[in-house]
Amino acid sequence: LTFFVEWAKPVLMMSDVWKADLMSWKLWEWPFFDAHHQAFARTVSAWNVPEHQHESSDFENDCRKLARQMADAGVLAAVQPARDDAGDWKLDVRSLCIAREAVAYRSVLADTVLAMQGIGTAAFWLFGNEQQQEQFMKPALRGETIAAFALTEPGSGSDVANITTRAEKSGNDYVLNGEKTLISNAPFADFYILAARTGEAPGAKGITTFVVEASANGLIKDDPIELMAPHPLGGLRFENCRVPATNVIGNTGGGFRVAMTTFDIFRTSVGAAAIGMAGRALDETLAHIRERTLFGQQMSQLPGVQTKIADMTIDLETAALAVYRAAWEKDTTGKRCSRQASMAKYVGSEHASRVIDNAVQLFGGAGVTRGNVVEQLYREVRPTRIYEGASEVQKLVIAREILGSN
Ligand SMILES: Cc1cc2nc3c(=O)[nH]c(=O)nc-3n(C[C@H](O)[C@H](O)[C@H](O)COP(=O)(O)OP(=O)(O)OC[C@H]3O[C@@H](n4cnc5c(N)ncnc54)[C@H](O)[C@@H]3O)c2cc1C
Repeated sequence: LTFFVEWAKPVLMMSDVWKADLMSWKLWEWPFFDAHHQAFARTVSAWNVPEHQHESSDFENDCRKLARQMADAGVLAAVQPARDDAGDWKLDVRSLCIAREAVAYRSVLADTVLAMQGIGTAAFWLFGNEQQQEQFMKPALRGETIAAFALTEPGSGSDVANITTRAEKSGNDYVLNGEKTLISNAPFADFYILAARTGEAPGAKGITTFVVEASANGLIKDDPIELMAPHPLGGLRFENCRVPATNVIGNTGGGFRVAMTTFDIFRTSVGAAAIGMAGRALDETLAHIRERTLFGQQMSQLPGVQTKIADMTIDLETAALAVYRAAWEKDTTGKRCSRQASMAKYVGSEHASRVIDNAVQLFGGAGVTRGNVVEQLYREVRPTRIYEGASEVQKLVIAREILGSN
């Protein structure tokens, strides 16, 4: 078979068969993975995810459909916690990263849906009670409802401890007032994990997490926010929005911890999604430079092109190592691993952006033409360096842990 493939390479290289093989995501052959990770990678690969170039004009419909499809295909299992030997809920971060990398390779919108079902339900299994898990977490993990996580405000994004949305106790309820912005799924989510100031102490220690149903009186959804690459995003306003005190998740005053514990898990997976996008861009580029003739030879034979391919490969593989090292360490030590997660997010998103930028360059004019996968990825990868903590914030987490000031 090897002989046949080598013999037929010139023909196959020009054909869709060869391209289809190049354009398929594969799990890294590294010792970070157990047999169940290999099996899960096959499950995720088998899901017939809608391909790139799928720029949604109806986010609500598309995201709901994707959530149901992912549940049916077993992909949503990536954000489903399981009980460990001590009886505590635990999420397998390597499975989460495998799913995000594989899905983002093919569709960034599908990756957004997967990520948000995870981020929007983690507070329940990390800090919530059984009733909240039954009512909110389980339907979302079955793909029946859409979750959202509302932390950012017009006046505080990176500076999470300074949020000003207030929650004031009134009998058996809390009354919410304030504004959130840049919230994924805001326009159509069924419920929101909301961080609001309850004032037990100044700053980070005076924040509480709530679950707010989309139907709550006084919750107003602002117009969707349009991004450079389409993403379901919007703002929320709370005007005397009343929620029962039973909607508090965990302890009052513990909201900052809820957010940071969630980030300790999901930041690594942002790096994974970014390398999924970068891996796709590299594969698209390899197919392109093998097909294109430049100065009388295959473009891939030009030394300048080869060094770019080397740069892209080095960026991609070192990023993937940072991602799966962080995931493996989190899974196997059970510790917070904030520094490792921040490194994975930083290296994953920064390197992926460079890989995709190089891909656009090697495609030339075609690389900036609408309809080209690398052009789409160029726009889609950019927010990964900003959301869930901008790159500068990740560096602060890393430095503070090294300096022992955290
Ligand atoms: C696609 C997308 C989806 C999002 N989804 C959600 C969501 O679902 N829920 C949610 O709550 N939020 C969400 N966000 C918001 C996101 O988390 C914030 O945009 C992010 O935390 C940065 O906050 P900011 O935009 O207010 O920027 P600012 O806090 O104003 O920061 C601006 C820039 O300053 C720099 N900077 C920040 N801090 C420092 C520092 N200490 N030192 C040096 N430089 C610094 C960084 O470069 C940063 O990008 C989303 C954003 C995007 C783009």
